[in-house]
Amino acid sequence: MAGLLTVEDALARVLERVRPLPAEPVPLADAAGRVLAEDALATVDLPRFPSSAMDGFALRAADTPGTLPVVARIAAGIPAPRALAVGEAMAIATGGVVPEGADAVVPIEHVREEDGTVSVPDSVSEGDNVRPLGGDIRSGAPVLIAGTTVAPSGLAALASAGVAHPHCAVRPRVAIVTTGTELRRPGEPLAAGEIYESNGVMLAALLGSAGAVVLPRESVADDEASHRAALLRGLEADMLVTSGGVSVGPHDLVRATLEELGADEVFWGVAMRPGKPLSFAVRGDTLVFGLPGNPVSSLVGALLFVVPALRALQGASAPGPRFETGILATPARRHPGRDDYQRARREQSDAGTLLRPIEGQESHMIVRAAAADALVHVPRGEGELPVGSAVRYFPLGSV
Ligand code: AMP
Ligand code: MG
Repeated sequence: MAGLLTVEDALARVLERVRPLPAEPVPLADAAGRVLAEDALATVDLPRFPSSAMDGFALRAADTPGTLPVVARIAAGIPAPRALAVGEAMAIATGGVVPEGADAVVPIEHVREEDGTVSVPDSVSEGDNVRPLGGDIRSGAPVLIAGTTVAPSGLAALASAGVAHPHCAVRPRVAIVTTGTELRRPGEPLAAGEIYESNGVMLAALLGSAGAVVLPRESVADDEASHRAALLRGLEADMLVTSGGVSVGPHDLVRATLEELGADEVFWGVAMRPGKPLSFAVRGDTLVFGLPGNPVSSLVGALLFVVPALRALQGASAPGPRFETGILATPARRHPGRDDYQRARREQSDAGTLLRPIEGQESHMIVRAAAADALVHVPRGEGELPVGSAVRYFPLGSV
């Protein structure tokens, strides 16, 4: 592992191997979190017609101030039976179609209605409280562009614009294989030397939230036959993610087995902490990540490389990882050769987001890491970053 790649170079090498998956029409209700493969075009103008922004009276601005007969009542969804004539008013509900001939709506709070007339004390301006046709978007224009991940607000935008089946990349199928003879499922009894397996559930949740269809997980002992069988199955997926067994010990069998199965290793070893012995290989279009077994190393490797690769597979225009900027609240020691990703707590202050690395930064300390809500990037270098340094951080905690 002589020439470690920088995190940036490693990510670039991953992304250049990604072949985006084909698209499929997706029912809108299932499109949250999916990535649009094509621009989604509005099927209607929005608003579809000049509509009232208020409960009030539709009239002509030129007829105000004045007292006008109320000649019709317009509810949302039920347009007026005829155009409005000079000197008339029509009661109108929010969202009602402003009748032809009217050019303004005066809110109910600003008028007095009695005996079939409405008195408007002040003059109003043309266009007041009228939402013009097409003010949000015109029919045929893109509501969301290709490469966008559909957020809840995006779903509503697509629905409003009449897009029932946006075209999204198919969800990548991801196989997860955890390795280690010592691993047992939580709930099972533990013999001497055994521990509970934790990376599988973590990776499944993380990758599922990034759009993957996670295949049934496999956990294998450190023997060649079990590795071969599970990795062979995993290589059928769009992406195979393994944990453990990528270091230099005699029981670390993942890389050799992958090679034997025809995977080409693109790199092994990234100048980062935790997670240095991460490996990346390809076989055909299948992307293969070998994450180190220590749970925090697996988490960091998955966030920095696997999730961006998953998003890129789905055609995301900004696959991430997306860092934000904050301020160190305590000094942070730098590693001379590797970028450090320290688990930290964030706090809002007038100066911005303060980041306080937690106690317990070792890569096996997943319980400590679970209390963090930020991963602070401490670039490699000499000495320490003083309090107040501007740093990048990756928000943690939500899937
Ligand atoms: P390895 O990368 O296989 O050398 O594993 C490094 C450390 O992480 C060892 O202490 C393993 O027991 C532990 N480990 C490996 N895989 C897992 C896992 N899936 N869940 C929890 N701990 C693991
Ligand atoms: Mg192991």
